[in-house]
Amino acid sequence: MSLKQSLKHILIAGGGIGGLTAGIRLARAGFSVSLFEQAETFEGFGAGIQLSPNCVAILYEIGLARGLERLACRPERVRVRHWQSGRMITEAPLGRSIEASTGFPYFHIHRADLIELLLAEALEEPNLVLKQSGRVTGVDSDLATEGSHTDNIQISTTLGRYSADLLIGADGIHSVVRDYVLPDASPAFSGNVAWRATVPAAKLPPHLRAHQANLWWGPGAHVVHYPVRGGELVNLVCVVEEHNRANESWHEYGRPSELLARLAGWHEDILVLVKAIDDEACFKWGLFDRPPLQAWHRGRVVLLGDACHATLPFLAQGAAMAIEDAAVLTGCLQHEPTHRAALVRYQKLRLPRTSRVQSASRRNARVFHMDGPGTLARNLLSGAALGWTARWLYHYRSPV
Ligand SMILES: Cc1cc2nc3c(=O)[nH]c(=O)nc-3n(C[C@H](O)[C@H](O)[C@H](O)COP(=O)(O)OP(=O)(O)OC[C@H]3O[C@@H](n4cnc5c(N)ncnc54)[C@H](O)[C@@H]3O)c2cc1C
Repeated sequence: MSLKQSLKHILIAGGGIGGLTAGIRLARAGFSVSLFEQAETFEGFGAGIQLSPNCVAILYEIGLARGLERLACRPERVRVRHWQSGRMITEAPLGRSIEASTGFPYFHIHRADLIELLLAEALEEPNLVLKQSGRVTGVDSDLATEGSHTDNIQISTTLGRYSADLLIGADGIHSVVRDYVLPDASPAFSGNVAWRATVPAAKLPPHLRAHQANLWWGPGAHVVHYPVRGGELVNLVCVVEEHNRANESWHEYGRPSELLARLAGWHEDILVLVKAIDDEACFKWGLFDRPPLQAWHRGRVVLLGDACHATLPFLAQGAAMAIEDAAVLTGCLQHEPTHRAALVRYQKLRLPRTSRVQSASRRNARVFHMDGPGTLARNLLSGAALGWTARWLYHYRSPV
């Protein structure tokens, strides 16, 4: 009996970027899938997300090329500047040359737009059932014990109890499913807070609306901004070091005036951007991460995306890693003879790469926020570092 025949039904907890991608891929591979999302609707929340060619390749495969062209922006380059003088430190191409070398473009997109595109594909899949307001509240460990000698797994949700042959935890950084796989592995506050906002482009001068990624390095802080939604909005992220523990929440408002005070002395362009933020569009997001988890599965339960490798956003790879996970996990379930072999192979293929991304992101926090004489060497090496990152990160393709 093939694995597809024995895995009659798969449950996914979480309908974010990773969960929806996995649901679509698995349904198309012939698996029967139910996806539980805690929110009442799939209406995406959040702000801008970067999609590099390593994940755009997968999104194109599932049919998102036209939608991305319509809703996303193609940055020409990434430009790094000095926080105070505005002097350019380095720049690297993201436009045609990245597309020519990797085969796929680099995009900036609003998270809500990406969720909308994924949802449209998901709704077309007869093998995929979407269950909104379906918060997974627990995994019944009595039926899926270590080593998985049992035939199925049961979960409790706000919609009732369900059973299946496999549960995928794609339920984000505060994953309930992770608590079952590896208790006591919650992420920790990194000492950085990201202020995030989308600003109407019409409120900004033309040079702040240009289709490029802008990165400003300063002592104890950095700022990123780029256009999304076809250029209608500019996504602004200001990351500042803060010792007080902040909430990891996409729903916590921040006051632009507080951010403005924190960025006193920064270049006029940054102040113009912050002054253009509407109060109700300003969010304060505590950044959490954690050392790599060494176990991504237990019995018939497996994790993907932020649930297993919450990553600081300083390499812009959070969404990309969840999308890659979804593709690799589907490939392993298609090609391995047992679910056990598939999950072992999946972890073996993904753990080294996501661990590398986690540690490179953490290193970037130190590099971006440097102060003092060390910045001279950093600035001299920055062009080479950007080129090296693009090579190992953007050329990745799913090995299964
Ligand atoms: C509301 C929101 C807004 C975000 N906005 C941005 C952004 O603007 N920029 C950025 O870089 N990153 C953002 N992120 C983070 C980014 O989406 C992830 O880092 C990345 O996409 C990894 O995707 P993921 O699928 O692993 O997790 P997520 O995208 O976090 O998705 C997890 C999904 O699981 C659902 N969920 C959680 N717990 C349960 C449960 N117990 N049962 C059922 N469903 C559950 C959540 O509602 C969510 O839809 C946001 C995350 C969220 C949840």
